[in-house]
Amino acid sequence: MSTPKVKHPDGLRRYAEWAGNPQGVREDVACCVEEVWPNDRRMIPSQCSRKRGRGPRRLYCAQHWKMEEARLVRIAGADRGLR
Ligand SMILES: [Zn+2]
Repeated sequence: MSTPKVKHPDGLRRYAEWAGNPQGVREDVACCVEEVWPNDRRMIPSQCSRKRGRGPRRLYCAQHWKMEEARLVRIAGADRGLR
């Protein structure tokens, strides 16, 4: 699970980039930005198909924002532990 960085001049993320589809699939701006892996043997992640609306800039669906938030809290906790 990860959130791809924007690295294209059009400001949109790309999903499912691989040797057979080097252009990938352009971000759907109505959907959550998280990458999800299919349950089959294709090892190609695609964009989460749930509607976005949660988190910073409302980029995540409810489920992925919950996971992302938990991750950020863990990182913040680790930071405090270092000081
Ligand atoms: Zn999602």
